[in-house]
Amino acid sequence: MPFVTPKSQRDAYDVIVVGSGAAGGQSAYALCMEGAKVLMLEAGRSYSPATETPMFQTPDLAPLAAVGTPQKPFGFYDATVDGGWDVPGEPYVRASEEAAGRFEWWRARMLGGRTNHWGRISLRYGPYDFKPHSRDGLGFDWPLGYADIAPYYDKVELLIGVYGSNEGLENTPASSPGCLLPPPKPLVSDLLIAQRAKRLGIPAIPGHRAVLTRPLDFRRSPARLHPGNVMAQKILAEDMRSRATCIWATPCGRGCSIRANYQSTTVHLPPALASGNLDITTEAMVYEVTLGRDGRANGVSFVDRITGRQQQATARVVILAASACESVRILLNSKSAQFPQGLANSSGRLGRYLMDTVGSTVSGQIPLLESLPPLNEDAADGQQLYVPWWLYRDQRAGKLGFARGYHIEFGGGKRMPDYGTAAGIEWLTGGSYGVKFKQDVRRYYGSFVYFDGRGEMIPNGHSYCEIDPSVKDKWGIPVLRFHWRWSEHELRQAAHMQRTFANIIEAMDGQTHGVVQTDGARAIAPGRSIIHEVGGAIMGSDPRTSVTNPWCQTWDVPNLFVTDGAAFASNADKNPTLTIMALAWRAADHILARMRRRTVRFPLVRRAPGTLRPGLPERQRARRSDRGVHRPARRDGGRNAPRRRESITPPGVRVSIAHGGEHAQALSHRLA
Ligand SMILES: Cc1cc2nc3c(=O)[nH]c(=O)nc-3n(C[C@H](O)[C@H](O)[C@H](O)COP(=O)(O)OP(=O)(O)OC[C@H]3O[C@@H](n4cnc5c(N)ncnc54)[C@H](O)[C@@H]3O)c2cc1C
Ligand code: SF4
Repeated sequence: MPFVTPKSQRDAYDVIVVGSGAAGGQSAYALCMEGAKVLMLEAGRSYSPATETPMFQTPDLAPLAAVGTPQKPFGFYDATVDGGWDVPGEPYVRASEEAAGRFEWWRARMLGGRTNHWGRISLRYGPYDFKPHSRDGLGFDWPLGYADIAPYYDKVELLIGVYGSNEGLENTPASSPGCLLPPPKPLVSDLLIAQRAKRLGIPAIPGHRAVLTRPLDFRRSPARLHPGNVMAQKILAEDMRSRATCIWATPCGRGCSIRANYQSTTVHLPPALASGNLDITTEAMVYEVTLGRDGRANGVSFVDRITGRQQQATARVVILAASACESVRILLNSKSAQFPQGLANSSGRLGRYLMDTVGSTVSGQIPLLESLPPLNEDAADGQQLYVPWWLYRDQRAGKLGFARGYHIEFGGGKRMPDYGTAAGIEWLTGGSYGVKFKQDVRRYYGSFVYFDGRGEMIPNGHSYCEIDPSVKDKWGIPVLRFHWRWSEHELRQAAHMQRTFANIIEAMDGQTHGVVQTDGARAIAPGRSIIHEVGGAIMGSDPRTSVTNPWCQTWDVPNLFVTDGAAFASNADKNPTLTIMALAWRAADHILARMRRRTVRFPLVRRAPGTLRPGLPERQRARRSDRGVHRPARRDGGRNAPRRRESITPPGVRVSIAHGGEHAQALSHRLA
């Protein structure tokens, strides 16, 4: 039984993964498919996209015609069932309410995290993006380069399914042959934007999104992803076969019940569960990493959100993948005599260098697109085309006045009409009623375009989080306080975005809507509102100045890993999630390799029939897998299931599971 309660968890696991989003899903997948026994602890509730996704509901069927509310900011049908800018009972503190220093924190509390509704834009970082400091002296270089991570980008693309193309543009890397699915056809508005942007020297090329435009290659990809692992290949092939392709009609933000796009819940978790190696406990709010006497992590403590009780789980390795700021919060709250400033914080850098994406938007109306015949233009739900950063030469020549680039996400067309479709067109009509209003709506509907800039933020010492000395959440766990500041580079970049977008709209013979901001402070979206937060436990090559090494492994505690965006040393303009997954897979391979080197008791717990033993050499593993390792998987997870009591912790460390007893108040005192 893969979904287990705190009581039915095993005594010990190979790895505990905290969080089930892009990072947690990828970590668990990569480990389970290669034989490691994993416990995933997820703070949110269980969630089944197959039964819960409102894919085909129309806005008129929902309260308030499905418009956004404080509880559902992205609309009634949005996939986030429990989360948003505010999560009841789970506050956070902003050090400043001023626009310039304001930090917004979006959280999703559900199985799969934000991957149930994210935008699916999946761009690779390029070679420059890993060495920004070497190029312009700002920020930090990563302790790895593009060549180190490229094989993992390939693997993630093959697994989750990403459409796109290889265009050979500067710092916009190509995927290996067979990795990308063909891009969808552009909309007419996309084509017009591309044509007019080209006149300005701005290239528009096919976007990269995690949406299946054709079936996955279930015959060849599993062997590329799990060479020599027959059981993993079989599980993955079956899973890939069962994923449908996109039907071009429904908003991806609601989730996809036919599994045509990437969500952790539809792509990572099903095969990991099918391996028999994954147990998941939902409603488990982790607040602390526990240490053995040897200074190594031996598990985590968490609050069972149903009962309010404190629980513990043990494992040889702990992976934090709770999203960048949550993982930092857990580490900062894991104080001990050895780590009084928080776990893995000997550098003092924990919580430092938070980064988001620079955002700025301009929209406009294009007479050339008026009165076009009605068509289904829901398409792949966005980013058929996009503009990668194109001004490298001007930037090198010092012509721009800011460092680092941005890409442009744009769109238009006739989507399924909703509550706001005909609202706010008075700036074009001067105000019309009755028949004239209907004529106006038909004329203007589909003639609007928007441009969103997504730019790199350089890490700075003023953007960080720390534990607030007094505020606690409803379980008594201390919360984060955020400090935020943009530098001149980001502000100038945002102003540049506004100018560029206005120029493109003008080149389309259109008119911009609203003021085109020349002041960067007015042009820039508030910190973290783009919801690409990374940093806080940055990786580096020096333990004195970074929290993790290139494998997302904390310098201070060798069996503790942070595989979400917290480990990012910079935040390139490219949206972060594909890189999060590539790094998480790379970290999982590193963990497996370490476990294989110390094979004494690995695998530690029984596994599904035929699952490989990672400790064995490749050829021997293949032979064994042919025969199958006939150990029954424990499917019920209940009390009747036999439990192995093998010790996996170092000598002298007690393995225990505490069931209940203390409640939130006691917890609050302990953490205070
Ligand atoms: C509207 C929107 C659009 C986006 N579009 C894109 C895009 O197009 N491209 C892109 O690259 N990125 C996009 N993102 C960002 C993307 O969603 C994140 O980068 C990605 O989900 C991060 O993965 P993660 O696993 O670190 O965090 P999450 O996906 O947030 O998952 C973290 C999980 O950990 C759980 N958790 C948190 N705290 C604890 C705890 N203490 N104990 C146990 N569990 C815990 C949470 O409940 C959650 O399930 C978008 C985000 C949003 C909100
Ligand atoms: S547009 Fe395609 S991928 Fe997105 S939800 Fe609809 S069917 Fe799924």
